[in-house]
Amino acid sequence: MIIVYHRPKTLDEALTLLSQPNMVPLGGGTLLAQPGPDPVEAVDLQALGLDAVKKQGNQLEIGATVTLQQLLESEHCPAALASALKLEAPLNLRNAATVAGTLVACDGRSTFATVLLALDAKLSSIVNRKSSIVNLGDFLPLRPHGLITSMTIPLNLKLAFDYVSRTPADKPIVCAALAQWNSGRARLALGGYGKSPSLAMDGTEAEGVEAAARNTFHEATDEWASAAYRMDVAATLAKRCLES
Ligand SMILES: Cc1cc2nc3c(=O)[nH]c(=O)nc-3n(C[C@H](O)[C@H](O)[C@H](O)COP(=O)(O)OP(=O)(O)OC[C@H]3O[C@@H](n4cnc5c(N)ncnc54)[C@H](O)[C@@H]3O)c2cc1C
Repeated sequence: MIIVYHRPKTLDEALTLLSQPNMVPLGGGTLLAQPGPDPVEAVDLQALGLDAVKKQGNQLEIGATVTLQQLLESEHCPAALASALKLEAPLNLRNAATVAGTLVACDGRSTFATVLLALDAKLSSIVNRKSSIVNLGDFLPLRPHGLITSMTIPLNLKLAFDYVSRTPADKPIVCAALAQWNSGRARLALGGYGKSPSLAMDGTEAEGVEAAARNTFHEATDEWASAAYRMDVAATLAKRCLES
């Protein structure tokens, strides 16, 4: 529950606030503004100018407070990422939710995080006033407290995304994202289960993606589907991504 609201005008001011106890960054507030047991002071990031989508060579730099809808509408947003963003949340939520807030709060059913994991996205973050670049794959299991300022994804590659869900607009029971670099490097990420999406494969070539997909979900049973079902679907989606 938010008990105090701050709107700093500079990054320095925001970092000073965030160094104090019970201060948390506020992105779109779609989750943080929900009632909760812990009283927090919210540090609204909206005046910090972290809301730009910039193409720099073969990279796309996405500011932390860019909304999901803003990214979806960007001319530089890869088609497969746009498909995943549409599934992440309905339009009203996409208009408010930010890319950083979504990654911090995501679970394994996040289509956005699944595609970014396949893309080997890098997060720029500041922890205890120290800046660093963190791979999304290293960030997700730990989600350290700090301030994400932006994220970067590569553009010079082939990217495919596919999913299976109860209805076309529902969150997936299984989704797969496959990124293939010109060098041959292939990265497969799977979503639809668990606390975070899973990296199924990061290899020098795409051979073996189906087996990797199958193996990744060998214990993926929950209320939505059995592991056996997810293993079959993941292998099929990986094959479709490879062929698309
Ligand atoms: C009706 C409704 C349905 C929802 N359905 C789902 C759902 O199905 N699945 C799901 O996963 N979520 C769901 N959510 C939660 C929420 O919409 C998403 O997680 C959303 O994408 C969060 O983004 P935000 O920018 O609004 O984050 P906020 O609510 O502002 O913040 C979320 C978390 O991220 C942190 N944070 C924000 N920005 C930064 C930053 N720059 N650096 C570091 N930390 C930061 C905050 O401190 C907080 O811990 C739902 C919310 C609503 C209201």
